[in-house]
Amino acid sequence: MPKTEAMDRTMGFFKKNLETMPHKKRLEYLNQKLRGIIQYAFKNSVAFKNKMDSVGLKPRDIQTIKDLEKIPITKKADLVELQKRNPPFGGFEAVPIETLRRIYVSPGPILEPGEAEYEDLGWAQAMFAAGFRPGDIVMNTFSYHMVPFGMQMVDNSLRQAGCIVVPTGVGNTEQQVNIMKSLRVNGYCGTPSFLLNLAEKAEEMGLDCRKDLNLQVAFVAAEMLPESLRSKLEEKFGMMIRQSYGTADIGCLGYECREKNGMHIPDDRIVEVVDPHTGKPVGPGKPGEIVATTFNKVYPLIRFGTGDLSVLTETLCPCGRTSPRLVKILGRVDQATKVRGLFVHPGQVDEVAAKHREIARYQVVVTRKEHKDEMTYRVELKEETLQPEKLKEEIEKSIRDVMKVRGDVQLVPKGTIPDGAKKIADQRTWE
Ligand SMILES: [Zn+2]
Repeated sequence: MPKTEAMDRTMGFFKKNLETMPHKKRLEYLNQKLRGIIQYAFKNSVAFKNKMDSVGLKPRDIQTIKDLEKIPITKKADLVELQKRNPPFGGFEAVPIETLRRIYVSPGPILEPGEAEYEDLGWAQAMFAAGFRPGDIVMNTFSYHMVPFGMQMVDNSLRQAGCIVVPTGVGNTEQQVNIMKSLRVNGYCGTPSFLLNLAEKAEEMGLDCRKDLNLQVAFVAAEMLPESLRSKLEEKFGMMIRQSYGTADIGCLGYECREKNGMHIPDDRIVEVVDPHTGKPVGPGKPGEIVATTFNKVYPLIRFGTGDLSVLTETLCPCGRTSPRLVKILGRVDQATKVRGLFVHPGQVDEVAAKHREIARYQVVVTRKEHKDEMTYRVELKEETLQPEKLKEEIEKSIRDVMKVRGDVQLVPKGTIPDGAKKIADQRTWE
């Protein structure tokens, strides 16, 4: 069977007026929304009022995004603790419980209130940017049980995007391949690894993923998407795959467009990247914790710390969307180490190594000399090089590009870096 006629899946916007707002207008828009939700949450959410009271703040003290740093960050662990003390939602909910449609349970455990009408547009924006178009038949392979993501967020957002959902959930790969084939499914929602499972199953069943199946777009989340896996799957199916990032508590916090150059922040929320110790924004280009504020009136989380590490960029994207972007998710804050005031993460150490085929083993060592941090990237080579200085310079350039902090490369003899060595060995001693 031939593929359905090619349609353009790269141009256009889901909410053009929001997505293309000039920077200044966007700030005004968000500041106004912020003042509204602060007033509202102070009045309706016990937990938020307590948080403001604990630092002596009144709603009028929060006028703009800049003022947000006065409000303490709520971490996931705090939420678990507060929910235990004040079940079910720790007082973060801002509506009577009897008005809810569902209660979701995420690992933690963390309970999330599900509103009667799902109105958030973040994921729908993400799906449009990923190439989903009205009339697409989409398989949603995220779990429909317990957690809010598959049922509340993805299913409802597909509806907002005008797509028809096949709610297949997790597992049953053979059956899913059969459904994909018989319904001529053209969209996939799920994890990248499950899409790979489906591809392998289809091949095992004697199918050609390109010819026998009709997948054209995929929206993947909940897992890291290595570029090697993306290109392998895009090639296999002849499709476009875009990733998104978010949390069960807030929803979408970033989505890729056709340009694949970071994840646009949806327009109806505020995302900050902050120093997790001080709570102050680190500024564009520097790694820090992603902290989010939602305008959701059922569950108005304000300054929710995700524990994920990223870098924000405000450079313009050629797609025409003007929102800032999260460059990529670097990993968890608690695995990161601070070097000269910047976070470095094991994932970045791997990324540097991946750029140089000559590297066999590697480790970052952080030391302190005369009250200054020093970072050394130790490298064992697969075989000796004739131009060690040139290679060192090249790796040092990759370190600056990827880790945003200067480091020296040290070529060490084979066997120097022990098995199971930490990716980042922090050898600093503090008086
Ligand atoms: Zn873009």
